[in-house]
Amino acid sequence: MKKGYITEIFSSFQGEGPYAGRRQIFIRFAGCPLSCFYCDTPYARDPTPGTCTVFGNNERFIENPMPAHLVIEFVKELRTPDLHSISYTGGEPLLSPSFVEEIAKAAKSMHLKNFIETNGCSARAFASVAGYFDFASIDIKLRNHRAVEEKDYDRLYSNAMECIKISVDRGIETIVKVVVIKNTAVEEIEEICRDLADLNIKFVLQPVTVSGGRAQIDIEPGIKELFALSETAGLFLPRVMVIPQVHKFMRIR
Ligand code: SF4
Repeated sequence: MKKGYITEIFSSFQGEGPYAGRRQIFIRFAGCPLSCFYCDTPYARDPTPGTCTVFGNNERFIENPMPAHLVIEFVKELRTPDLHSISYTGGEPLLSPSFVEEIAKAAKSMHLKNFIETNGCSARAFASVAGYFDFASIDIKLRNHRAVEEKDYDRLYSNAMECIKISVDRGIETIVKVVVIKNTAVEEIEEICRDLADLNIKFVLQPVTVSGGRAQIDIEPGIKELFALSETAGLFLPRVMVIPQVHKFMRIR
């Protein structure tokens, strides 16, 4: 039985992309190798948190690393009649592929649907778990996200593209998400969309959300920018959508 580090487990509504509003159980895996400047879960970048917080009827702190069977026990406890799927999120779930695989396999045996949310940092890890997933939301980071040093950007981009191709090839419903900030270059979005053009995906432009005030106004893209980016994507892809993080508006986890 595998063990791994999890930051938190809870039930809520999906806040991003075409499945926004669907009920999920979120398993937030610990650790992330990237450093996006807008990261809204910096606490989840710690790869070895001492405890995992489980939000249920009461809040519990479970010692890490946790065995996969205990994670499944919490999934059973948090299961509700409106459940859409289990979200494997982070941090970055692909840092713990064999642990993810064991949980996802058990969830499948309970006839639950699995939904992975990844930054696409490792195509090899993605390939090893893809067989257990029904949905994949894969990020493509832009250079101005500062997710990695400039010298490492091309490698991150090609891993994300490879994850997307594997996902589509395996018949997983694939969502590609790009967070956009003010002054995002139309040419950069065009280049990404050309690379995605033949793939069966949903493409989401997600206006950045940061924690309010002046900083928010300074980096948020305006509506004209969003129209231009969406129109550019539409030249190459049939299913383009602009969707902000709705859980921030709902003030939920
Ligand atoms: S990939 Fe996600 S968790 Fe990692 S730094 Fe970027 S926003 Fe944060």
